[in-house]
Amino acid sequence: MPTVVIAGAGLVGALNACFFAQKGWNVVVYEFRRDIRTMKHVQGRSINLALSNRGKAALEAVGLKEYIVQQGVPMYARLVHNKDGKTFSRQPYGKPGEHIVSINRRHLNEVMITQAEKSPNVKFFFEHKVKSVDYEKKQLVVQCTSQPSRIPTFGNKASQPEEHPEIHVEADLILACDGAYSAVRRSLMTIPRFDFVQEYIEHGYVELNILAKNNEFAFEENVFHLWPRGHLTLIALANRDKTFTVTIFAPYAEFEKHMSNTEDVFAFFQENFPDAFELLGREHIADTFSRVKPQPLVSVKCSPHSFFGNLVLMGDAAHAMVPFYGQGMNCGFEDCLVLSETLEEFGDDIETAIKAYSDRRVPDAHSINDLAMYNYEELKDLVNRNSYKLRKMFDTFMNNLLPNTWYPLYSMVTFTRIPYHEVVERRQRQDEIVSKMLKTTSTLALIGAAIGVYMQRGRIGL
Ligand SMILES: Cc1cc2nc3c(=O)[nH]c(=O)nc-3n(C[C@H](O)[C@H](O)[C@H](O)COP(=O)(O)OP(=O)(O)OC[C@H]3O[C@@H](n4cnc5c(N)ncnc54)[C@H](O)[C@@H]3O)c2cc1C
Repeated sequence: MPTVVIAGAGLVGALNACFFAQKGWNVVVYEFRRDIRTMKHVQGRSINLALSNRGKAALEAVGLKEYIVQQGVPMYARLVHNKDGKTFSRQPYGKPGEHIVSINRRHLNEVMITQAEKSPNVKFFFEHKVKSVDYEKKQLVVQCTSQPSRIPTFGNKASQPEEHPEIHVEADLILACDGAYSAVRRSLMTIPRFDFVQEYIEHGYVELNILAKNNEFAFEENVFHLWPRGHLTLIALANRDKTFTVTIFAPYAEFEKHMSNTEDVFAFFQENFPDAFELLGREHIADTFSRVKPQPLVSVKCSPHSFFGNLVLMGDAAHAMVPFYGQGMNCGFEDCLVLSETLEEFGDDIETAIKAYSDRRVPDAHSINDLAMYNYEELKDLVNRNSYKLRKMFDTFMNNLLPNTWYPLYSMVTFTRIPYHEVVERRQRQDEIVSKMLKTTSTLALIGAAIGVYMQRGRIGL
């Protein structure tokens, strides 16, 4: 059986390990962190994530969908909180019953590692850092980072930690799943014609928590709570333990101006998110903002995703995106599924399959990256605009009329596996139709108005 070496045991690396374990390949995973299953506190991004159809399809292929979905909290609509702190508007995500699921990141990651490890052909090496890729030899360069032994020294000098030697690892297939700041991707930078774009948006984010109230959810759990305030956005997703993870997205300048001392941050929350302020509580807000710095949000596009006939960039290593479509993990999970399907299609001819995979996946990754940027505009402001609400109503109407042809944009991304680049093409066609209809309607309205004026004049003239 061939050997696959995976860099990173995060969400995408761990799911890839499940896929290849199932295929019977020899699987070796190198993860920089300690085993998260043994850690009290795991540092990292977002506590919970929205899982949608693409992610579910990939989990289903490795037999984990049902279990994972059961562990989550379904969300059927966006609940938009108005600035008065008392009124709301509800925007269902799709047709009745269609929903996304709030999942705990750490639990999901742990379940996938444990599932992969059940196969005797899978080995995880934690506290192993992937340093680079040696592309002359098509090998991964890895170094153990655990408890360095001490080099004895003489005299009063403190002993110096000895570094573990670097090892060069060979494999039939190397999957770089080492996240947005991928060391593997970094070492590919000098490859001719490797395209790479990285962008930090002006916003950062801070996570807070709303605790359970009398052992119950403090407010409605089966919705995605949203406080859109122009350039600021607050969101809240429920957890199974009846808490909510609340995330504030704001420009770094706003964090500095309004959230750098306790009194300012209280005033800021009271003014913009009065209902959330009450539920979060002064103590928790003060404590969080005194301890935590805003985290940056980065978007990465690159092309190709495959190299040297045996290396593939996947997940955030290939396409980190801003989190406003809730698709980063879902897209990464779909990567695993598409790679598995493509290898099967090419009878495990790795070189041809990974080239085909990259050709297919690059346009999709670029498209969802752009859509995520677009949704950033939508979430922070557009959801409150009448033009947005009208378009949503129109799309729902058309979807009821032509259920197999006209899908709203959000539904195509979230509830189908239509390739992302095709989603964008379909939306552009819909936009053209809508604008033609608007032109025709306004032309007809103008003609109608002209006739009306003419008739009126005629009458006046009589
Ligand atoms: C605030 C926020 C909210 C989000 N919400 C959602 C959501 O609702 N839905 C959604 O689909 N997506 C969401 N995402 C995106 C999602 O978190 C990422 O797309 C997903 O984590 C990508 O998984 P990954 O395995 O590619 O990368 P990561 O999860 O970053 O995992 C990379 C792994 O590689 C390891 N690693 C890194 N460097 C090395 C190295 N040199 N050697 C060895 N190991 C290494 C890391 O320790 C880590 O374990 C959100 C992101 C953010 C920031």
